[in-house]
Amino acid sequence: GRVVFSGIQPTGVPHLGNYLGALRQWRKLQDEAAPEDTLLYSIVDLHAITIRQDPAQLKRWKKEMLATMLAIGLDPHRSIIFYQSSVPAHSELMWILSCSASMGYLSRMTQWKSKMSLPDDASPLDTSSKAALKLGLFSYPVLQGADILVHSATHVPVGHDQSQHLEFARELSNGFNHIYGPILSQPTTILSPAKRIMSLKEPTLKMSKSHADPKSRILLTDSRDEISKKIKTALTDSITGVSYDPETRPGVSNLVEIVYHLNDGAAPSCEAIAKDCQDLSIKAFKEMVADCIDAKLSGIRERYYEILNEEGGSGLRRVADMGGMNAAASAEATMEKVRDAVGL
Ligand code: ATP
Ligand code: MG
Repeated sequence: GRVVFSGIQPTGVPHLGNYLGALRQWRKLQDEAAPEDTLLYSIVDLHAITIRQDPAQLKRWKKEMLATMLAIGLDPHRSIIFYQSSVPAHSELMWILSCSASMGYLSRMTQWKSKMSLPDDASPLDTSSKAALKLGLFSYPVLQGADILVHSATHVPVGHDQSQHLEFARELSNGFNHIYGPILSQPTTILSPAKRIMSLKEPTLKMSKSHADPKSRILLTDSRDEISKKIKTALTDSITGVSYDPETRPGVSNLVEIVYHLNDGAAPSCEAIAKDCQDLSIKAFKEMVADCIDAKLSGIRERYYEILNEEGGSGLRRVADMGGMNAAASAEATMEKVRDAVGL
């Protein structure tokens, strides 16, 4: 059977981009899975600490992420839902892979390369210098590769921003297998149709949990009112009417895409939606977009608060414990072969 693995960082409440680009896809894969398929969905807390986190808040965010995953319809009796740090084999395989991973390849990763323009002569206390960059930020793609390979995953559903890391994971697998024999899997990337939802404030950047401006993203927990306010203040342009052209009208086109993907391809294309709305003022169009978002998210939001309030701590802890045990068993099956091959 297939082994599906994917992860999300507990760095805040998930937003519309996470939902359309990842979480909704996870749910679909669960619903369409054959009985012999395995699905693993991880809250990757070890990745979250590549950036300094407040410990109490990180714990809160982990719990809230788990509640969100249940609220979107992941079934803990069908999918293995777990905290990454509860399965030490992820870190163990990361070290082993670090010993065959290429520094040159890692240096070419977009996120690392973007830091190479920082000044390098400042003191380590200056957070905006190269000297302050952390080893974990350089090597986390190796951990991400280990996350996938430790479960011998065959399919990894992610948004567009992760495709480069998935290519690196395949490279890690090749490199290891070249030395030790055919042990690690060759994971295939599954790109969601909504692969890149843009920021509402800077529509040339992707929507992100950790971006400083909370108005740049719609959270799955936002109220009707908050959704309206954020869409109303979303950056568009001064061209009259609605049209779809991501190059020249990134802001408006992002809103069109959101409607298209929320309706799950009910309209034939983004162009068709824009054509239907071409005579609307931007104000009226935005009201329509906000209605559409609220209609699709209100059920998730209600379930989320129900789960957090009713299940409280203990129900969620039971889910995480059960997922952790099953994920550990899955990882152990791969690790036995890896340790033996390496001579550990
Ligand atoms: P952070 O800013 O903390 O990195 P994030 O919003 O990028 O948060 P992640 O936890 O890094 O979220 O990613 C979880 C999943 O969501 C990944 O599969 C990623 O590709 C997907 N994803 C993130 N942002 C978007 C987006 N704007 N559009 C589509 N998919 C996205
Ligand atoms: Mg991210």
